[in-house]
Amino acid sequence: MNMDADSKSEAVTGDFGEVVRVEASSSTPSVLIVCEHASNRIPQHLQSLGVTDDVAHSHVAWDPGALGVAQALLSRLPGVLVAGGVSRLVYDCNRPPEAASAVPEKSEIYQIPGNTGLSAKARGDRVAKVYDPFSETVSHQIATHAASLTAMVTVHSFTPVFHGEARSVELGVLHGKDDLLALDMLAKQPAPAPYTIRLNEPYSASDGVAHTLDKHGVANGLPNVMLEIRNDLIRQAAEQDAMAAFLAPWIDAALSDLTVAKGVS
Ligand SMILES: [Zn+2]
Repeated sequence: MNMDADSKSEAVTGDFGEVVRVEASSSTPSVLIVCEHASNRIPQHLQSLGVTDDVAHSHVAWDPGALGVAQALLSRLPGVLVAGGVSRLVYDCNRPPEAASAVPEKSEIYQIPGNTGLSAKARGDRVAKVYDPFSETVSHQIATHAASLTAMVTVHSFTPVFHGEARSVELGVLHGKDDLLALDMLAKQPAPAPYTIRLNEPYSASDGVAHTLDKHGVANGLPNVMLEIRNDLIRQAAEQDAMAAFLAPWIDAALSDLTVAKGVS
């Protein structure tokens, strides 16, 4: 990743190892990039949660390629990136603590033995050690850079085949309670687009995926959008970089529109 003179990175580390990392490409970032499912790391004391290596390396455990795209975006936009440091099987940082899927007993077709019959104390520990520091870090970045931030973009990837069904969408543009930026991006999509782009696919807010958008974007009046990229398109670093090269000017164009609409010069 390219780091300019303003660059910095910091991390929150505790019993669960590094649970969240912050990287910046500007000291006055305009875009907050969030990558909740950046890592498939399962802290050693959780003994792989009882899943096989195959599962621990699959989309069930993280969003393959998403961090690479997020970092490549960061190098192209004046921004700050908040990235999760543990597998979503340990705690899914895009889910509130009250959601059963925050610490899933089953993900797609896989049982997660280490999450089954968890005591309230053990579950509370996951919230306190993973979700709270992640969420607080996002809040802290928004508060710190309130003067320069114009939007939050969350970066995810999804599996091409889910429950045995092939997905034709390649790039999903999703919104939560505020659809301003998502609709603006759809309106401003490059034509002809090199990818099959759809609104609120393969998921939408009704699947519970808008937690970060609503909690941190909507609540702070920060325009926000969630990008879901089919993971077979971003397996290699060069593909992640190409995806970011496509996304960055598109996001930039959508944001200039918002800035004009708000009358900010
Ligand atoms: Zn994700």
